[in-house]
Amino acid sequence: MIDGIIKYSFDFKLSKPLDEIDFFDIEFTRERLFALGLIGVTKNGVGYGNISRRVNRDSFVITGTQTGHLKNLNATHYSLVEEYNDKDFYLKSIGAIEPSSEALTHGTIYNLSEDIGAVIHIHSKALWRFMLSNNYLKTNRVEYGSIEMIDEVNRIFKNIEPLSNSKFVMAGHEEGIMTFGKTLGQAELVLFNILGSFLKKLNS
Ligand SMILES: [Zn+2]
Repeated sequence: MIDGIIKYSFDFKLSKPLDEIDFFDIEFTRERLFALGLIGVTKNGVGYGNISRRVNRDSFVITGTQTGHLKNLNATHYSLVEEYNDKDFYLKSIGAIEPSSEALTHGTIYNLSEDIGAVIHIHSKALWRFMLSNNYLKTNRVEYGSIEMIDEVNRIFKNIEPLSNSKFVMAGHEEGIMTFGKTLGQAELVLFNILGSFLKKLNS
């Protein structure tokens, strides 16, 4: 399954587009990941990949739903999640577009630690296979955007300081990988380190 359907119970209020200050840094990271095909669109026209950055304790900015096919995004393509509660499977957002269908998974990651400032979700069959067959953290075969996915994220980080191992592969969400960090730059670097390990293996 690829991110096409919004599965959580949500409250979305259509509002004016966000201010550029809220997302311009996400846009720089997104351009690089789009260039690598880690964010993009499938042959069937379904967009994949999403990025978020924490705004304050309880809110974060995230790319809008079905924006993967766009090389560049503007203010109308970002959504502000104002409230989220992964126990009640609830999320409240505003913006000119609804948030990515994986927004609540991002929220669950932010709930792991207040020091987490950014989350990246990409798709790559090659990296997905690489992570599954090597020793990376992985969620069991549960669907994206589901309550089970929230439980899985909490389970795998139960006894791990999340920022010490800030990446995992989603076994039940083909091609899906998540990384995170204190900053957006850190989350991106974690992803590039996986890519680096993969290329090293490929080239050896
Ligand atoms: Zn996905």
